[in-house]
Amino acid sequence: MNKGILVVVSAPSGCGKDTVVSEVLKRMPGKCFLSVSMTTRAMRKGETDGVDYFFVTKDEFRRHIDEGDMLEYAVYGDNMYGTPIGPVRDMLDNGKTVFLIIEVEGGGNVKKAFPEATKIFIIPPSMSELERRLRGRGTDSEEAILKRLEIAKSEMLRAEEYDFIVENDKLENAVEDVITIVNSQLLKTDKMKNKIKEVIENA
Ligand code: 5GP
Repeated sequence: MNKGILVVVSAPSGCGKDTVVSEVLKRMPGKCFLSVSMTTRAMRKGETDGVDYFFVTKDEFRRHIDEGDMLEYAVYGDNMYGTPIGPVRDMLDNGKTVFLIIEVEGGGNVKKAFPEATKIFIIPPSMSELERRLRGRGTDSEEAILKRLEIAKSEMLRAEEYDFIVENDKLENAVEDVITIVNSQLLKTDKMKNKIKEVIENA
């Protein structure tokens, strides 16, 4: 069986990366899976341990790093976030496409551990539209919104480190773009070698 592909998705907060990826997963059932990250941040209302994140203490997180359990990790705000390597390795060994939705620091670190990873950066149509979306959520204070916009600008400056840029103007288009990218990666010669062999042998 061919090994699956690892797809890293990053975007400034408010660009809809979670929505885009969850729609892609729905449309490629059994093929694409999302890695569940580990974090030291507090659980938010509505979140479930082991589903949204594995919620751990800072000591536990550090222990996992020391034991070599993390594919990548980064400090974001006051908290640590990281990708446990075990489940990702298993899914890739089973030929699955695995999505990581992570911030840009971690995105950079993935490329070191997994140079073959496909990296997608989702951008908003404009910074003013991003501001409108962040305000529209109605969940953050003015100060928090300005801070998010400031972080968004610094993250946008790292977009060129990614292999593909997807604009999330309309959700449908962004979802289709991501599916196109995944499918084209799966059709690369390297991933089709087994198929070629199979066709020849079943002549
Ligand atoms: P939130 O606290 O809003 O759930 O996530 C904050 C940021 O951390 C988001 O940009 C999210 O994509 C990122 N993040 C979530 N999981 C991981 C991870 O495993 N590694 C890294 N590097 N970033 C992550």
